[in-house]
Amino acid sequence: MLRTSDVKAYCEREPQFDDMICSLRAISKQPKGMLKETREVVALARKFNDRVVRPYTAELDRKMQEDPDYLPRDFVEEANRWGLYTLWIPRIFGGKGYSLPSICHFLEEITSVCAAMANLIGVHYLGVATLIATWNTNIIQRVFNDVVEGEKNGKPCLVSLALTEPGAGTDIEETDLMDRGNITCHARKVDGGYRVNGSKVFISNGHLSTWHMLFSFADLGKPSSNLVMLAIKTETEGFSFGRKEHKMGQKGCPASELRFDDCFIPDSVVCFDPAQASKLARTRTDTTMQLIDYVFSASRAGVGAFGTGVARGAYEAALKFASETEVCGKQLINHEWAQCMLAEMNKNIIGARNTYVESNYANGLDGMYKTLQVKPIYYLVRYAPAVVLKKLVPPFMESRLGTWLMRKIHCDWQTDAEIERTSGLGSLAKITGTDAGVKNAQMALDLMGQAGLRQEWIAEKHLRDAKLMQIYEGTNQLNRLNLFKCLGGRHLPQMSVFTD
Ligand SMILES: Cc1cc2nc3c(=O)[nH]c(=O)nc-3n(C[C@H](O)[C@H](O)[C@H](O)COP(=O)(O)OP(=O)(O)OC[C@H]3O[C@@H](n4cnc5c(N)ncnc54)[C@H](O)[C@@H]3O)c2cc1C
Repeated sequence: MLRTSDVKAYCEREPQFDDMICSLRAISKQPKGMLKETREVVALARKFNDRVVRPYTAELDRKMQEDPDYLPRDFVEEANRWGLYTLWIPRIFGGKGYSLPSICHFLEEITSVCAAMANLIGVHYLGVATLIATWNTNIIQRVFNDVVEGEKNGKPCLVSLALTEPGAGTDIEETDLMDRGNITCHARKVDGGYRVNGSKVFISNGHLSTWHMLFSFADLGKPSSNLVMLAIKTETEGFSFGRKEHKMGQKGCPASELRFDDCFIPDSVVCFDPAQASKLARTRTDTTMQLIDYVFSASRAGVGAFGTGVARGAYEAALKFASETEVCGKQLINHEWAQCMLAEMNKNIIGARNTYVESNYANGLDGMYKTLQVKPIYYLVRYAPAVVLKKLVPPFMESRLGTWLMRKIHCDWQTDAEIERTSGLGSLAKITGTDAGVKNAQMALDLMGQAGLRQEWIAEKHLRDAKLMQIYEGTNQLNRLNLFKCLGGRHLPQMSVFTD
């Protein structure tokens, strides 16, 4: 028989057992209420699909082809009326406080009907996740209050993430590439804040957002160790919108250029900067990578859910077509070759969903969702009377203790193995989901023939939408390299990634 110490030693050998079974480790730790919440948000998404998304998807796509500069404020206002921008804002700030992993299941549902509308909702939470990753509790509270207020007064308050620059997409997502890249968004330290110059491109929901989570750099000679993260409001002097991209898919969701022209950002909205980074345990460069990984580990699971959703939408279109169409004297759905194709598409969906679920388990154990899924905290935040929380939470969030403690737990106490596991599984979910989306969209068109090319079947739209998913949140090539770096080859001493 093995001794306990033997079991530990064998399980810690590569590939690490903990990397392989996040779900098994997580199940006993997860609060039961999370399942009920996930059912609720899926039901809500299906209702929203029936009432809002399905009747509007083809029309919005057509509208955007005719007028690429149209901004779908009507949809955003409707989503705001349905309360969708506060579903994952904690109850203590007036949001509905659903557990964060449930967002993926919600997004899969919406994307199965329309990826652009899913993005109009989902990208807001990418901005929210970026804000959370800074653990600057004071600013988190301020922005969340605005989002909740926006729901109450019918003026949607969305948050965007501004990372990509005209000359730096992949380069800005990895610290190993940053210093060799062409990063130009500069934040100069001045009395009382920063002066920002530069621009960002392809920022989803940019034109529709009120707050923008900006990645800028105090020293362009060495950006990897000089990250400055700012929360910038649209009305700030020196900030303006540039062009809106005319793209092949997800047309309803704007991809915007943001410009910063000597834009003064006061200390009160500086979420993170080199001075704050110096107080953490890791080097400033490692902290920059940790912060980016922290966001992407969660958001890439979300993009995996987008991919799964579009794979499902294509499958459902193909299934409907095969049920309604006769080929060689019998229903297409009763031809064995068609059944094999449909089974393959179904396999792609289930495999993709399992990877984003596994990635979420990892984030619940070791990443962004960690504290909120600790049972006593989960039940306190969910069920404690609002008056009690209102008394306890704001003073904590506004104090320096709040930021210090959350950074201690989420940054300093996150081990390198935990960073690699969450990051690797995020990349896996992203690649698997989005490749499944493109594959199924292609297979749907193959099965449907000329009918699939007609706009009313939406199948061709799924293909146009799915392709973009392989590019954003890091191209799938970058994510393959990251998967290899974090999980596949990390135990090999001679291995080095991103050094070409
Ligand atoms: C619809 C859409 C929405 C987006 N929304 C946002 C948003 O909200 N916020 C935001 O900040 N950004 C957003 N982006 C930008 C997106 O994140 C970038 O497009 C993506 O990171 C890739 O960068 P790039 O397009 O500059 O490609 P590049 O970095 O120029 O890459 C070009 C090619 O080279 C490969 N490559 C580059 N470097 C390496 C390397 N070191 N090793 C191997 N291969 C490499 C890439 O894989 C790719 O094939 C969005 C993009 C799209 C298409």
